[in-house]
Amino acid sequence: MPEEPLIAHSLAEGYLYLMATPCASCGQGPLKGLDARVVSETERSVTVAIATRCAACQSDTTKVFLLPGGLGIEEKGEAAIVNPTDEPSRILDVGQWIVLFRMITEAASKETDKTQARHLGIEAAQCLEEALKFYDDVDNDLPPSEAFFTDASRERFRGAPEQFSRRRLIDLRTKLPSMAAMRASVSARKKKRWWRRRG
Ligand SMILES: [Zn+2]
Repeated sequence: MPEEPLIAHSLAEGYLYLMATPCASCGQGPLKGLDARVVSETERSVTVAIATRCAACQSDTTKVFLLPGGLGIEEKGEAAIVNPTDEPSRILDVGQWIVLFRMITEAASKETDKTQARHLGIEAAQCLEEALKFYDDVDNDLPPSEAFFTDASRERFRGAPEQFSRRRLIDLRTKLPSMAAMRASVSARKKKRWWRRRG
């Protein structure tokens, strides 16, 4: 039975979704996004299928994403922009973005290739920006209940609400270089994106 496509702001957001989603077969993961293939394309939106493999049980699946704003790729060699809009993600909730931030920051700290590490830094900064898009009430330092899509995130929030402090996320964000500066330096090096893609 074909699943409903997941709506993402870019192909990069689709790959991040896979990183944060447990495997349907074994409940573990992470799912590794392999190649993406365009399934259909209209004037505005693109539907892509991403082949995935579970890192734990090795089972293969395909996840289909509808990208109303297109693939989200600018120029070759540019860093991928996860979500150029102010709209929060529809597939990853505030807690998942915070987990992704942590995962990617950790990967960046272990990465020995400088360009690759910088790419991961861009990804991490964007995860924080995505998490911050869910905080709609200026007087509330914590995210609204609509910012949670998964029980795992709700549990994490109950266990450690301080990790969801907007002020804390903004502080973390200010420690990272600005998006424009990071993009410029990546663009100058014209290296491969961190995820693979077949056009
Ligand atoms: Zn699995």
